[in-house]
Amino acid sequence: MRNLLPLFLLFVLSVGPAAAAYVEVTLLGTGTPRPDPQRFGAATVVEAGGRYFLFDAGRGVTVRLRQAGVPLERVRRVFLTHLHSDHITGLADLWLTGWIWGRPGPLELYGPAGVGELARHLEAAHGADIGYRTGYTGLDGAAASMGATELEGEGVVYDEDGVRIVAFTVDHGPVKPAYGYRLEFRDRVVVISGDTTYSSNLVEHARGADLLVHEIAAADADLLARNPRLGRVMAYHTDPQQMRRVLADARPRATVLNHVLELGLGARRALDALLEDHPDTLHLGQDLLRVGVGETIRVIPPPRGPSAPHP
Ligand SMILES: [Zn+2]
Ligand SMILES: [Zn+2]
Repeated sequence: MRNLLPLFLLFVLSVGPAAAAYVEVTLLGTGTPRPDPQRFGAATVVEAGGRYFLFDAGRGVTVRLRQAGVPLERVRRVFLTHLHSDHITGLADLWLTGWIWGRPGPLELYGPAGVGELARHLEAAHGADIGYRTGYTGLDGAAASMGATELEGEGVVYDEDGVRIVAFTVDHGPVKPAYGYRLEFRDRVVVISGDTTYSSNLVEHARGADLLVHEIAAADADLLARNPRLGRVMAYHTDPQQMRRVLADARPRATVLNHVLELGLGARRALDALLEDHPDTLHLGQDLLRVGVGETIRVIPPPRGPSAPHP
């Protein structure tokens, strides 16, 4: 009987219930155009079904991927929410360094009209380097290119091996179209807002999601009164009052705030009050914060601060 135990265990392991669907989300950059060592440019990576999906590629994304322990050569797809600079200035570094690190093919971009032109211009700008490295070091020139899929309207933009990604439009004022993304892996749903003010379309796509990664912007009223330009900026972002509506209307299981814009001394108080009103389900994002999305949702802060190198 004792000899049959390993066989029995093998049987249990092979016919046991399928592993519960699990998705891991890492905030790589939670900042804005402000050069902030604690908050790099907008970027979020989702690991689902053994693959990595990157949403936006702001300043420092390549460094943060390395700190998060994500192999650069395995980042093959980038979904851009819109073409504001703080969401794309890390792209050239990611594209070229990933290539040097052995990415086996082109970096595939998805995003609004203009993504193709962005890719072609970056390729032209870095043509000399690509020439040096393919000619002398023998790197694969084909993998030094970028594919570009320009989204038309809304709908499924990726559907492979059980991972489905849906693009939907959000409301980022004059930046049209600006997209949010909904990633589905089996019964798990993660929604990335991109930059937006309150968007009923986002609420529709985020309703009941496991995790919503949503932008936030808070500003002092007197500051806005004195500075009309800041007022225009705030008008296409989501303030704490609007965030309350998003949470009440969409009711995701958990939400993390990214793209954290704080203008004035009262902004932090407004954010703190928002967080205090949703103590178990709402979290202030920080760079390298991870969220494990499974039967339970685990929010894992960066162990030694966002600037510390990953062990
Ligand atoms: Zn923007
Ligand atoms: Zn932005």
